[in-house]
Amino acid sequence: MPAKGKHRRPKSQRVTRAAAVASAGGAALALPLIGATGAHAATDSAATDAKTYTVKAGDTLSKIAEAQHVDGGWKKLYDGNKDVVGADAGVIKPGMKLALDGAAATTTASTASTADYVKPVDGSIGTPYHSNGSMWSSGYHTGTDFVVPTGTAIKAVGAGTVVSAGMDGAYGNEVVIQHADGRYSQYAHMSSLGVSAGQTVTAGQQIGLSGATGNVTGPHLHFEIRTSPSYGSDVDPLAYLREHGVSI
Ligand SMILES: [Zn+2]
Repeated sequence: MPAKGKHRRPKSQRVTRAAAVASAGGAALALPLIGATGAHAATDSAATDAKTYTVKAGDTLSKIAEAQHVDGGWKKLYDGNKDVVGADAGVIKPGMKLALDGAAATTTASTASTADYVKPVDGSIGTPYHSNGSMWSSGYHTGTDFVVPTGTAIKAVGAGTVVSAGMDGAYGNEVVIQHADGRYSQYAHMSSLGVSAGQTVTAGQQIGLSGATGNVTGPHLHFEIRTSPSYGSDVDPLAYLREHGVSI
């Protein structure tokens, strides 16, 4: 997976991410509608292809569920139509309109809400996290380095708010982003900054270009995940990305 991503053009990857975000957003928007009390009403009017069934004399929920191939049987059919059918699943009246796939739609929407995280840059990993050495003030490497030439697009690993963007001593041009889970991501040694403090960013959004500013021996991205915006609160960045579904 990393090798594949390496040869993919950043532009096409951004388009893919944008599409993924858009579809997840769409599903999230649909959730409140389906979760609302008028579940089937919303389903019926919003989706023209939503299947409904008009109850005929002599029908029972189990008969309809079987005849219409409702996944989950009569129980699912009842769960999806409780406010039409009422408290008694055994009593349905001719003329009632039942949503046949309302329950299925709810299930689909709720599974599409996973957080979207990406790699900070397409490049191979150089100095790993916690590598020991006298060159680091804490005695060990507080981030993971990605070996990339100057000018490579650096991306926010997840949605969040830019806490700071500017020159920070040995880190050179640096961006720190706060994420919804309370973690912070830091990107250092950049040649140019594309965001400013207070700005909100989406996962995969370009926040600047890689470089060799600050205390470096060559161009690379120094990437950290922290529990606070400050130096010294670092956690394993690759483990964090993997927890969020990134193959790295
Ligand atoms: Zn580093």
